[in-house]
Amino acid sequence: MTPSATPATPPASDIPLDDTALAEALLDALETHILPLTREGVARGNKIFGAAVLRKSDGAVVLAEANAETENPLWHGEVHLLKTLHELPEPPDPRGLIFLSTHEPCSMCLSAITWAGFDNFFDFFTHEDSRDSFAIPHDLRILKEVFTLDPGGYRRENAYWRARSVAEVIAGADPARQPALRARAQRIADAYAELSAAYQSGKAGNAIPLA
Ligand SMILES: [Zn+2]
Repeated sequence: MTPSATPATPPASDIPLDDTALAEALLDALETHILPLTREGVARGNKIFGAAVLRKSDGAVVLAEANAETENPLWHGEVHLLKTLHELPEPPDPRGLIFLSTHEPCSMCLSAITWAGFDNFFDFFTHEDSRDSFAIPHDLRILKEVFTLDPGGYRRENAYWRARSVAEVIAGADPARQPALRARAQRIADAYAELSAAYQSGKAGNAIPLA
């Protein structure tokens, strides 16, 4: 099979959910699917990052995964999810899926999401959060050292995909629902702060190359 041609225009957003329903679905995936896996992963010495894929049609979670760098340094949450997804007996068509990343993807994961055929992704925390709130400077350092990119220097909308933050989606939701959505987002952020403290306090003994 020959590779398909490079798309000439940015993909149209064909997610039928409005921002209220989408925000609910993304926060639910974070809180009830990714966070429990992340708690188990951090207990084994892994980082706090995770990912999930949801059906575009109704926002249902198809699969979630967490970082597993103690097993393989390439198993960032996103790549680990893509590996597990393609081990399913019948991997779903990525064109029907929403990709959710807990943290703005690193350069490897940006490429992995692209090569895996997704036309979108959503992220909850930013690269700056990873550096400043979670003491993981590698995403921004690699972009600068390898690709000479300053923060914000890659294209969030391009010929392959459109990226949006969960905060943007919440800001587009029904104003009457926004206080509850923001409160839930804060509860999730608080849970990540706790997990980050646990990871940082135990990371001296792990064998992850970029811990
Ligand atoms: Zn990554």
